[in-house]
This record gives sequence, structure tokens and C-alpha cells, in this order.
Amino acid sequence: MAVRIAVYPGSFDPITNGHLDIVRRAAVLFDEVIVAVSLNASKSPLFSLEERLMLLDHVLSAFSNVRIDSYDGLTVRYAETHGAQAIIRGLRAVSDFEFEFTMALTNKKLAPAIETVFLMTEVQYSFISSSTIKEVARYGGCVKGMVPPSVEDMLSIKYRSLK
Ligand code: ADP
Repeated sequence: MAVRIAVYPGSFDPITNGHLDIVRRAAVLFDEVIVAVSLNASKSPLFSLEERLMLLDHVLSAFSNVRIDSYDGLTVRYAETHGAQAIIRGLRAVSDFEFEFTMALTNKKLAPAIETVFLMTEVQYSFISSSTIKEVARYGGCVKGMVPPSVEDMLSIKYRSLK
């Protein structure tokens, strides 16, 4: 049987417990999951590409079938080049739907063989986004339980250095 490969693309600026939950679940469904940091999605990220990859590597190192990478350009082209059959996306709320729907249909038009697979957020992560995490951390709020401990540390280091 062919190896089932999925790409989970995103900005991951930074990875949250919501992302981590999606990776954990995707890793059960697919033989291999490539968590791919998209360079064009996030225009002015807080964390550099190297920092985001380092955090992903740290947080995801326990998963034997998860790889980390980055790419520039179309997600479907990246998926095709890496032999992936699917693109994973997470859905938190109805507000995510419109953008994700348009994106999935566009990707289907560009690459009909690649499926977008949506995983519904676990309810306890439904309010978590990288942007709210950054907002909370910037003003010294506690993000414990919303991001992995290494991300929590990096956020406080980052905002201290920016002050
Ligand atoms: P992008 O800029 O491509 O939206 P993100 O890093 O913000 O990148 O998100 C990547 C994917 O993870 C998206 O599909 C997003 O909906 C999903 N995601 C983000 N946060 C959560 C969460 N808390 N629960 C489930 N899915 C999530």
C-alpha cells in the first residue's frame, strides 16, 4: 500500500497547543505528517523562520512520523513535490470556515489529486490562536496551558528583549 503523506501548512508563529493537538491527531491518520512553515503566509512574524523551526522541532521531536520543513510558494506544489496526498487544516469556529473553504476549493482546482482534510479543534483549544497568544504574552499575561512550555519561555524572552 502507498505511504499516506499529509502536509500541515501554517505560519506557526508560534506553535500552540491547538496546533499540537492537530499534529497529534493527524499523525494517527497518516503514515507521515510534514509540518511545513509557510514563508508567505505570515508577513511580519514575531519569530524568525529559524526560531519557529527550532520551537517546532523541540515540541514535535517525540513524534516518529512527523517531519518539519519550510517552503515558499504554493502549498499544493509543495505537497505534490513531497508526494503528499493531503493537506491538513484545523477548524476552530465558523469564522475560520469561509477562508478555509475558498482556499480548499482553490487548491482543488490547482491540484485535483490532493485532498484538504479538516480536523475540528478540540473544544479546550478552540479559543487559542497564535495571534491572541502573542497579544497576551506581550502585555505580560500568562499563557500557561495554551502553548508548550518551551514556547512560553521563548515568548517571555522575546518580549523582554523587545522592551
Ligand atoms: P495560517 O496563517 O496558515 O492560518 P496558522 O499557524 O495560524 O497558519 O494555523 C495553521 C492551521 O492550524 C490553520 O488551519 C488553523 O486553522 C489551524 N489552527 C490554529 N489554531 C488552532 C486551534 N487552536 N485548534 C485547531 N486548529 C488550529
